[in-house]
Amino acid sequence: MYATIHDVLIIGAGPAGLSTAYLCHKHGLSYLVLESGKVIFQGIANTYPEGKLVYASKPKDAPEPFMIEELRPPDKPVTVESYLQYVQHFVQHENLHIQTEVDFEDIRDDRDALTVITSKGNFKGKKVVLSFGSNIPRELSVYGDAKMVAKNLDDASKYVGIKTLVIGGGNTAADVIINILKAKREVNDTHPVYWAHKAETFDVNKETAQRLGEEILLGGNIRLLTGAMPRIGEVDDDGVDRLVIRMNEFKQADGIDLYHALSFPMKNVIACIGSQGPVPIFDKLGVQTIACTAGVCKIAKEGERLVLLSSEFESTRKGVYVIGGAISPSYMKISTGSISEEKHPNLIYTAINDAYHVVEAIRGKLSK
Ligand SMILES: Cc1cc2nc3c(=O)[nH]c(=O)nc-3n(C[C@H](O)[C@H](O)[C@H](O)COP(=O)(O)OP(=O)(O)OC[C@H]3O[C@@H](n4cnc5c(N)ncnc54)[C@H](O)[C@@H]3O)c2cc1C
Repeated sequence: MYATIHDVLIIGAGPAGLSTAYLCHKHGLSYLVLESGKVIFQGIANTYPEGKLVYASKPKDAPEPFMIEELRPPDKPVTVESYLQYVQHFVQHENLHIQTEVDFEDIRDDRDALTVITSKGNFKGKKVVLSFGSNIPRELSVYGDAKMVAKNLDDASKYVGIKTLVIGGGNTAADVIINILKAKREVNDTHPVYWAHKAETFDVNKETAQRLGEEILLGGNIRLLTGAMPRIGEVDDDGVDRLVIRMNEFKQADGIDLYHALSFPMKNVIACIGSQGPVPIFDKLGVQTIACTAGVCKIAKEGERLVLLSSEFESTRKGVYVIGGAISPSYMKISTGSISEEKHPNLIYTAINDAYHVVEAIRGKLSK
């Protein structure tokens, strides 16, 4: 497994990661992209609404053009579906090296290289580029392991014929339920979808509520579980990973509490509990961040922590670079002895151009 030491390991196959890969490929650096999603541009596929137009936006004061024409969205906006299709063709045509469904977990400093630890084993690289964007799905915090719980809906038909649990109280959870109910309706499947939320009320917009209402009136079988808390991830006697979700807790005077709980096979569960910024990952990696204090930051709020990077996007962990949406809307830039907040708009333009500068820096360091 350790036979190959890549020049560059790239985490995430969004605009930033793929641009990095393409430039490595063009300049003869060996590289590998590790993407947690099923497909490239999974971050965009998950967050853009259907039919959304993609704009080739460029900040007014940005001096550079798009540094990689091949990945730039067209001037005349196209739908997200056609931009994704174009990028997929491009990646195939260039034969870029990407492994999907690999979850990045950690980095270890070894004598010969940096070892990237993932859900699919370890990989070695001289440099690591973190381009995992800003939308890191929140993990369920339960006692035990809940890694098998899905965080988005890739294929609604997988949930046909089974009782499904969707966790989360917002629009994303509601959208997932609508799509599952639709898939079930098409094949007359009456197994219910349970919708669990820790609060007593749900929080969806009018348009989503209307679509959900329509599905229910058309026969959608949905069971609401309010005040429901995911508690335990466990393996049952048959070796099935299960998630226990607790409802209706009755505190007893004698200190022995009574509660109702449901236990679902984890493969039946989708948790749509929002996303978080990458700061917890930076902490885990030992990448330094700095808290903004009054008067120092103009973009970030007081107390918010920003990652500390060199002018070449290298973090305080040697050989580990961070680019793209992961460092937006601002980061702390070290330049000639001073540190200041640097604006970094979350745009495809920024992601592409960061990749250009990082690959130039790495080429310089590796003399390639
Ligand atoms: C609704 C919406 C509309 C937008 N419209 C525009 C627009 O019109 N024009 C524009 O310029 N910008 C737009 N943006 C912003 C633009 O999409 C982002 O700036 C851009 O996607 C950032 O690219 P990235 O590669 O840094 O991150 P992402 O696109 O988020 O890609 C990160 C990738 O890393 C993967 N990943 C995450 N965690 C891990 C992990 N642990 N292990 C492995 N892989 C991981 C993700 O699955 C994802 O594929 C929009 C954003 C949103 C949300």
